[in-house]
Amino acid sequence: MSNYKIFLKSGNCSYCNNNLIIQRKYSGENLCPECFQKNIEKIVYKTISKYKMLKKEDKIVVALSGGKDSITLLYNLNKIQNRIHHSRPIKALIIDEGIQDYRERSIKKATEFCKRNGIEYKIISFKERIGITLDEIIKIKRKTTDYKYACNYCAAIRRRLLNDGAKELGGTVLAMGHNLTDFAETYLMNILYKRLDIIANQYFFKEENLKLEQFYIKKISPLIRIPEEEIFLYANIKKFDYYASHCVYREQDPIIRRRVLDFIQECKKYSPEIEFNLLQGFLELSETLYHHREKMNYNTCQNCGYPCGRGKLCTYCTYLKEFSH
Ligand code: SF4
Ligand SMILES: [Zn+2]
Ligand SMILES: [Zn+2]
Repeated sequence: MSNYKIFLKSGNCSYCNNNLIIQRKYSGENLCPECFQKNIEKIVYKTISKYKMLKKEDKIVVALSGGKDSITLLYNLNKIQNRIHHSRPIKALIIDEGIQDYRERSIKKATEFCKRNGIEYKIISFKERIGITLDEIIKIKRKTTDYKYACNYCAAIRRRLLNDGAKELGGTVLAMGHNLTDFAETYLMNILYKRLDIIANQYFFKEENLKLEQFYIKKISPLIRIPEEEIFLYANIKKFDYYASHCVYREQDPIIRRRVLDFIQECKKYSPEIEFNLLQGFLELSETLYHHREKMNYNTCQNCGYPCGRGKLCTYCTYLKEFSH
């Protein structure tokens, strides 16, 4: 909570004179719970329209984990959809990687939220789709010399299952709960590892590419202008019943991602606007790279037919092949 002073009865809201709950150092605003909540909902709505994330006819599938971010996202999208568009109902997609204790509990929170709010959901598990849980993968791979840490396997497989699951649910857009802090962390990682193709590919206003759209559903992240701490505060003010613990693998593996996050948190103490600068930097860099970088030629994966890099198999199929040995 370094960037946020939580005040109890010691100051007034910049907008209504009630007692404030948060002081935003990066903007100088003081907000009471009511104004803060409305402001967060306004940011979500404005982010969607500013970056043209949705069309009226879109069918939204929300990637739901049961944590504060995805529940906040689902709640807000559902509200916007009901109020403004009156369009087709949102569905939720839950991925069960097979992480003992952690995932069962978060799935329980996710499904309870859906039931309470009358939202249709589907659960897809690693076990049912690829025949093995993440815990089993890690047990096998940890003994090998080419072990790549749990998050690498998990993210590549989950990405594919989310994409396929959202298509199966008839979605045209997959909404992800990434907040500004997640975004800043990922962007900095991409810079550190010189993943310029990925940055170019994340440009928000890409032209339609029918060839790629056959395979990949459009992804949107309506929370990317809200720092993690504010989602936390919002979810608590709204009294959402979410799952608060972190995945054990993120704590156990010495992944650089965590160090990057610690670095950002440290910088925020002195430069509260740092995450917003990273987002702005990304917007400009991704646009430049998208227009000026030579477009990469994709191979087609020999196993699944999806576009892949320069090899014969995509990352997903490469991993599946490894696990079957
Ligand atoms: S922290 Fe890593 S292993 Fe755990 S759910 Fe996230 S990506 Fe998967
Ligand atoms: Zn107020
Ligand atoms: Zn493949």
